[in-house]
Amino acid sequence: MNAEIVAVGSELLLGQIADTNSQFLSAELAGIGINVYRHTVIGDNKGRLTQVLKEVSERTDVAIISGGLGPTEDDITKEVVSNLTAAPLLYHGPTLKNIETFFQKRGLHMSPNNKKQAHYVEGSDVFFNDVGLACGMAISYRDTLFILLPGPPRELKAMFVEKVKPYLLQKLGGSSIVHSRVLRFFGIGESLLEEKILDIIRTQSNPTVAPLAVDGEVTVRLTAKAATKEEAIQLIDELEQKIKEKVGHFMYGVDEDTLPLQTARYLKENNLTIAVAESLTGGWFSKILVDMPGASAFFEGSTTVYSKEAKENILSIDRQLLDQYGTVSKECAESMAIQVRQLFGTDIGISFTGSAGPEALEGKKPGTVWISIAGPKGTRSHHLQLSGGRGQIRRLAVYYGCWFLLK
Ligand code: ATP
Ligand code: MG
Repeated sequence: MNAEIVAVGSELLLGQIADTNSQFLSAELAGIGINVYRHTVIGDNKGRLTQVLKEVSERTDVAIISGGLGPTEDDITKEVVSNLTAAPLLYHGPTLKNIETFFQKRGLHMSPNNKKQAHYVEGSDVFFNDVGLACGMAISYRDTLFILLPGPPRELKAMFVEKVKPYLLQKLGGSSIVHSRVLRFFGIGESLLEEKILDIIRTQSNPTVAPLAVDGEVTVRLTAKAATKEEAIQLIDELEQKIKEKVGHFMYGVDEDTLPLQTARYLKENNLTIAVAESLTGGWFSKILVDMPGASAFFEGSTTVYSKEAKENILSIDRQLLDQYGTVSKECAESMAIQVRQLFGTDIGISFTGSAGPEALEGKKPGTVWISIAGPKGTRSHHLQLSGGRGQIRRLAVYYGCWFLLK
């Protein structure tokens, strides 16, 4: 089954708001194994909307139409669909009652326009709006199923998740279920990861394989269709295994896992305590650890030592070392990690130093980063050359800190 999304609203074309509804719907549809082939944005114009819906109906199984179900003159979607399908607009009883109660409760006058929100096209399956007033609906036009949803994102999301998704899953075939899992990778770029699993991507159809890069990490969504959830999970397990054989070294978790969450888990499970010395990251790494519930089990404390003087005076980093190697150096990072570990008496000390830009620091270009980890078995250091602005460099350094701890 394939789908297209039609977002209706002149405010979208004028650039006043971004089309987040289509983004949401696309992600949701991918999650249930429905391929989205096109997005169309169209203004509140009857002629042009009619034209678009005719075109869309010639190439797609499902068209999800967002917006224009409201009470005002520019809300035209239902009227256009009614004309196309040659089916009249009728009032949906429960929706009309809901609208009347809404106005009565607030002591507001209900104008005749408001009744429009209870309109539905004869012959459609109606979706009651639990968080707003206008009902949605599904109606067939030629071989295409039109699904009309309200424009306000809160209403569209609720209606899609609660009503439309189960409806579509049933249409997909009652006995077939769709299950997906997101594999999460770090320390490898999207193109390299794709290259390494290209044969799998090319030959795989069930589960489908969809890589995506967001904010420095890469995810691969596996979506399987099967008769039962257990079967779908088995298909996903098998494919995950194949992918792990190729790029397992870079995988840190699945689904809702995050690097901070995995780091907290790792420290807790191994009964390790940690202290942090931050220059470049200015407390950011400590923050993401403390954000984790139960942080007190592993997080002992931290120092932010931004200036050379602070490094010397607070963490007792040797002045001669600082002068000889500079603060953006392996030597400084190592010393910071060792000192903070000693200061707090923890199992692990981790440190961050580097040049965030925009200017070079001590002749080191922006993105030069050193992260050191001191533990009972000694100290290891990692050098990174990151790209991006100040925020991106510091954020990535924090996530690399988690990553190196897990490795
Ligand atoms: P209403 O009853 O509020 O008029 P409606 O179903 O007629 O709802 P629209 O009038 O098209 O929907 O849009 C209502 C509001 O919802 C818009 O002003 C906008 O803020 C938001 N909205 C509409 N379409 C989108 C979209 N594609 N992405 C994000 N927001 C949207
Ligand atoms: Mg409207």
